[in-house]
Amino acid sequence: MENLLEALPETLLMGPGPSSVHPSTLRAMAAPEIGHLDPRFLRIMDQTLDLLRQVFQTQNQLTLPLSGTGSAGMEAAVVNFVRPGDRVVVGLNGYFGQRLAEMARRQGAEVVGVETEWGRPVETADLRKALAGGPTRLVALVHAETSTGVLQPLEEAADAAHRAGAMLLADAVTSLGGVPVAVDARGVDIAYAGTQKCLSCPPGLAPLTCNDRARQAVEDRAGDPPSWYLDLKLVARYWGEERFYHHTAPINMIYALNQALRLVVEEGLEARFERHRQVARGLWAGLEAMELRLVVPEDQRTPSLTTVWIPEGIDDAAVRRRLLAVHGIEIGGALGPWKGRAWRIGTMGESARPQNVYRFLAALGECLG
Ligand code: PLP
Repeated sequence: MENLLEALPETLLMGPGPSSVHPSTLRAMAAPEIGHLDPRFLRIMDQTLDLLRQVFQTQNQLTLPLSGTGSAGMEAAVVNFVRPGDRVVVGLNGYFGQRLAEMARRQGAEVVGVETEWGRPVETADLRKALAGGPTRLVALVHAETSTGVLQPLEEAADAAHRAGAMLLADAVTSLGGVPVAVDARGVDIAYAGTQKCLSCPPGLAPLTCNDRARQAVEDRAGDPPSWYLDLKLVARYWGEERFYHHTAPINMIYALNQALRLVVEEGLEARFERHRQVARGLWAGLEAMELRLVVPEDQRTPSLTTVWIPEGIDDAAVRRRLLAVHGIEIGGALGPWKGRAWRIGTMGESARPQNVYRFLAALGECLG
């Protein structure tokens, strides 16, 4: 039978995720299989938690990687912190804000969407207006909107939420490890991420952190959350001192995350954030030099994901196909209202290197003729 894996070429991943993975992280996945309750695995779990706290920039005790992709982090946040009937204010300025709202709706929440033009951050004044409408459990915002490339400021939103007695939930899927999330300094109560973006680890885990206030809200909740698998109280007992069996940890994924996080911490968070900023600035300058128009104003862009309008008369899919087939580079098409009109270019983790940007710009130039 044909071995499809052997035929896979190296691909430079500059789309909305996954990003390219460091060879040492891929090799970590091939470390010997051991039991998930083996004392040596327990040490790897502990070290991984410690590294995750550093990367989230938090002291939060309840910080762990959930089994599942970023959407599992989103769903865990919603099923644990939102009860039926709770009022939830959600920033709607992109595709993933809509997904958050949809998950909250399925939990029976009263969802109050703060509709904002795609490509712009949600304004604090609009959040305040929505919060004034009634007692609110949660304000949910996407920190780096992968559908648009907008970076959402979080400090003022945290302040507005707290003054109204609500908690702030931040989706850090496309920021963690590349853009400061600064959970403690910014007063974020709950944050979740994915592994396949700025952490440059394969997809499969959803790091989540929540502070004592949010943790208390989980403890005080009357009745169980509707999901057993994502019940934070149960999962925390497995990752905590008790090591109470809940489900079998995806052992090799945790090896990979452990290695990916060690690379982040060894590089240093500040140096890594600066690298992402510099590489993004290089990309923006290169695109503009080719007379392409960037979608988001510079001061509202996330360095991890850039959206650019597709020039008139250029076939979106044909260019992306050629980039992949001829140049070995993947970029993303746009979602929702921008489908066919914009490209999404990721500079995340290992992909965020100047040489990758030069290679991509030259390849795009060739494709555009
Ligand atoms: N939130 C954001 C901002 C994302 O970019 C993504 C994925 O691209 C998700 C959530 C969902 O993550 P996943 O696709 O890993 O389930």
